[in-house]
Parts: sequence; C-alpha cells; structure tokens
Amino acid sequence: MPGLLKSTLLNVKHRLIDLFLSSSKKAYYHEVLLRNNPYYRALDQDRKRNFIVRTHLFLVTTTFGSPHGFPVTLPMKIILSGGFVQITFGLKADVLDYFNRIMIFSGPYSYKNNTRRYKGDVNPMTKTINLSWPAVTHGFEDYKDGINLVLHEFAHCLVLENSRRGYLDRIFDESTLNVWKQQGKALIPEIRNRKASLFREYGGTNLMELFAVSLELFFERPGAFHREHEEFFQTMSNLLNQDPRYAPNPVLP
Ligand SMILES: [Zn+2]
Repeated sequence: MPGLLKSTLLNVKHRLIDLFLSSSKKAYYHEVLLRNNPYYRALDQDRKRNFIVRTHLFLVTTTFGSPHGFPVTLPMKIILSGGFVQITFGLKADVLDYFNRIMIFSGPYSYKNNTRRYKGDVNPMTKTINLSWPAVTHGFEDYKDGINLVLHEFAHCLVLENSRRGYLDRIFDESTLNVWKQQGKALIPEIRNRKASLFREYGGTNLMELFAVSLELFFERPGAFHREHEEFFQTMSNLLNQDPRYAPNPVLP
C-alpha cells in the first residue's frame, strides 16, 4: 500500500477510535500516563490525545497475563502500552502482529533447566514478551539513567517483527536501517574499548543489543546522545521518525 494512503487510513482509524472512546476512559488513561510516563507528560495537548488513542489500540490488541496469579491491573497495562506507543509514536506501526502477548512476573524469573535470572526477554518461540514488574516501574521512575526495560524489550520486538513482515509492510525504512547497521557495526568496538562510554557495555554485545540500548538512550538521554554521537543520533531519529529533544511534539514533520 502506498505510504500516503496508508497514513491517511491510519489517521482515519485513530480519529474513529478517538470518537468512540468514552471521555471517562480517556481521563483514566490520561491520569495513569501522566503519573507514570515522562514522555507523555511532556507532550502538548494534541499529541497527548493521539497518544491516548494509540495506547488504547495497543492495549486492546495485546494479551496480558501472569504466571502464579500475580494480578495484572489496568494501570499496569496502560503503563506497558504507553512504552510501546512512545517508541512507535512517529511510525505507522501502532500494534504488534507477532509479539502481542505480554507475561508479567512479580520479580526476576528463570527458564526451566536454566539458572539464569531474567528481568525481561522477548521469546520468539512463544511469541511472548516477558517482564519483571519491579524492573518495569524502575525504568520509568528513573528516566534519566538511560536504562528502561520496557523500551529495551519493545526495541527487540520491533526489530524482530520488522524482519518477519512483508517488504511493503515493514516497520522501518530499509535504507535507513542499513545506514543504522553500518554505523552500529563501527560503534560496537568503541563501546567494547570504553571509547563510547555513554553506551553501557551491554550495548557492545551485538547489533541487536546495541539497538535496544541505543533506543533507551535516545529517549532517556537524547541531549547527551546528540552531543556525543550526532550522526548516530540522527540515524536513530530518521529510523523512528522522531526527535525526543523536542518533547512537546517529537514527531518529525
Ligand atoms: Zn536485550
């Protein structure tokens, strides 16, 4: 589908949801996001309105669950959905087709026959995003440390989902993604040698982790990221079609 038609349809879809979503529900979403999501808090009125629509859409198209009866409340679902919305706010992708199941754990968890403890992971076998709830809330409470579990795991989802979608339905622009990969490959040895200290060491693991770690920085420390790695920041910005330094309206025109 041509890009212009696609974005027109997207606008119509969002306007219809806006029309049918009750004002009390909108007010509830607003309250929860205002309290828990710094990205949302900084948006202007029009952007807040669209953010709520996208949050609702993601929430109703995603299955949330937990093992062992850990209660998953509506505010928890709103917080998680808001994390997805902020990283895709400049993109046409407003839901996940493959990874639309989120399992929430009461704390760090491990897999069978494996002693490693996880705070979060994306499991391509079960098409599930697993998250430890205390790490989720900590990510948004400290929004300046460049570490945010939800943004990190959704970053993995976007890359995995992008590669699974058909050519015309991709989340990212192909050529921009290639530029990102080239720049990323050059950056990894610098991170390993501690020459790019803004990035935590884990980002030097491979391109997949670098993408997730870069995305955390992009949202939580955009000023420092732009100052220290302007070219790479610009590529991230082109890829996500937004610049979080302009907090009230970060989406690129
Ligand atoms: Zn990761």
